[in-house]
Amino acid sequence: MQRWQPAYIGLGSNLDDPQRQVLRAWERLAGLPETLAVLRSPLYRSRPFGPVPQPDFVNAVAGLLTRLDALALLGALQALERALGRRREGARWGPRVIDLDLLVFGRERRADGELTLPHAGIVERNFVLYPLADIAPDLDVPGLGRVSELKARLAPEGLWRIEPEE
Ligand code: AMP
Repeated sequence: MQRWQPAYIGLGSNLDDPQRQVLRAWERLAGLPETLAVLRSPLYRSRPFGPVPQPDFVNAVAGLLTRLDALALLGALQALERALGRRREGARWGPRVIDLDLLVFGRERRADGELTLPHAGIVERNFVLYPLADIAPDLDVPGLGRVSELKARLAPEGLWRIEPEE
């Protein structure tokens, strides 16, 4: 059995009542095996980027403690996406009912076909760094630096908090 490790998950949805989808996914994270769902950021609304015109997203970040290893956690997140109605076909950057990204897993750094840790998009995505800074401002993201400092480099353009700070 592995030791308990902190892991941070990015949640996003822009279909079928996105706010409800994100809250439902957060509740289901608590049901993952060998995992405790510890913290959830406030919800944010974000304007989509990329070539596909589509509705705004709702985003949040969850903080977990888990005894799964990183690949097992990724597999569990993908199974949860499927259980929540995610279809993998369609445009890469297109709308989705739920997207769960493994942002940070302990101190792990890796980049192979299956899994990149920390997640490759963290430093340029305000909809990841703002909610992550709400729950873990002092987190040192392996190879990238402190969350509060990474956040300070990104404007909150196209990003709105839709819940008060807890
Ligand atoms: P997406 O369509 O954005 O959900 O991307 C999913 C694909 O990205 C899967 O095939 C994963 O194996 C891969 N992937 C690589 N690193 C990560 C990560 N840190 N979190 C989630 N998916 C990842």
